[in-house]
Amino acid sequence: MLYYSTQKQSSSVSLKEAVVKGLAPDRGLYMPETIRQLPASFYNEITGMSLTTIAQTVARTYFGEDIPKRELDAIVADSLNFEIPLRQVEDNIWVLELFHGPTYAFKDVGARFMARMLSHFVKQEQRQEVKVLVATSGDTGSAVANGFLGVEGIRVYVLYPSGKVSDIQEAQFTTLGQNILALEVDGTFDDCQALVKNAFMDEELNHRLSLTSANSINVARFLPQSFYYFHARAQLMRHHPAARAVISVPSGNLGNLTAGLFAKKMGLPVERFIAANNRNDVFREYLTTGNYSPRPSVQTIANAMDVGAPSNFDRILDFYGHDHRAITNDITAYRYNDEEIRTTIRETKQRTGYLLDPHGACGYMALKDGLQPGETGIFLATAHPAKFKATVEECTGNTVAIPDGLAAFMQGKKETIELPNDFSLFKKALSSLS
Ligand SMILES: *Cc1c(COP(=O)(O)O)cnc(C)c1O
Repeated sequence: MLYYSTQKQSSSVSLKEAVVKGLAPDRGLYMPETIRQLPASFYNEITGMSLTTIAQTVARTYFGEDIPKRELDAIVADSLNFEIPLRQVEDNIWVLELFHGPTYAFKDVGARFMARMLSHFVKQEQRQEVKVLVATSGDTGSAVANGFLGVEGIRVYVLYPSGKVSDIQEAQFTTLGQNILALEVDGTFDDCQALVKNAFMDEELNHRLSLTSANSINVARFLPQSFYYFHARAQLMRHHPAARAVISVPSGNLGNLTAGLFAKKMGLPVERFIAANNRNDVFREYLTTGNYSPRPSVQTIANAMDVGAPSNFDRILDFYGHDHRAITNDITAYRYNDEEIRTTIRETKQRTGYLLDPHGACGYMALKDGLQPGETGIFLATAHPAKFKATVEECTGNTVAIPDGLAAFMQGKKETIELPNDFSLFKKALSSLS
């Protein structure tokens, strides 16, 4: 299958090229040329299928022409080797827990899948080592570093702002060793991102090295996120075969939500979606006014959603042919400030016993505000509450236990390469460190 650019100024490319390049030469995002419906037989049998089997079936409709079945099945099975349970929180509200992977946040799914798919293409071509560059304010770096850890043919450079990520986040990408290098930049997250962007623009560097990015613009990170929507619906069907399901997605760069829209297009029975924003609500504003005005992000306690110019917005526009009415038929949105998030974490724990993290809390509130009579809601819990231990404890007054896997990162020895905020030195480092 071919992938076209949302900017429509460069030609369509193979899956391999879309994955290795990341962004199209015209700065557009790659989209699959066709999104196929899954057959009725799949939906008839889905309640009896495991997460792995569901994901392998969906993966084949996207990637089946480009990767042999046995290898694709293995890529899927290796990436999804953890549980994604659906739990009931109250009468008509369910939660899909996406945080049982190695770094306790949903980005593990896409990062692990992309690592294995990229490695498949690198091996196939016996091409030179591919260098993955990723700038992080915390969570993306840990998911990508752990997803790519030990994967052959690939080296990962995580750039992060020194002193500006939490200890637990830092431990998740600075203690791994092997093919993961952490560059501790004397600057801000924006400086890190600018260094990475400049590297992709630098002709001489790209001529010499094979560079790619691992953020959600990459189709190999973005598309696998549709797998678990099918798994959520299958689990709900076991309890409510005919439920009119509405899914609420805590949103930042809109990759997770867009993957859900793709699942619906493939025939998944979902009524509609809700996008939950924090104070960074340019997407909600677009839905209500029709005007899109990206702006610098503001800091909130749901910080993985602090995005002022969502990178997958163009995918949503393209998907609906830029038809605002069609978009608002499928998606509504709500926004919440830090106080509302805090209150919800406290009250939900008291009332239902369920402990939310700040991102999941936005998804939960959006369901409470948006669900209509007769509908059943699912919200995505995108991070484990222990990742936001201090905030969550402040809300509930109770200690949050840190899962063993998360605590284990804190035992490792931190190893970083300190880097001034200077592109020529970064360039030198990229060429010498291998
Ligand atoms: C990245 C992230 C989000 C936002 O997901 P997008 O796909 O960027 O919209 C939400 N919650 C958590 C915990 C995240 O890490």
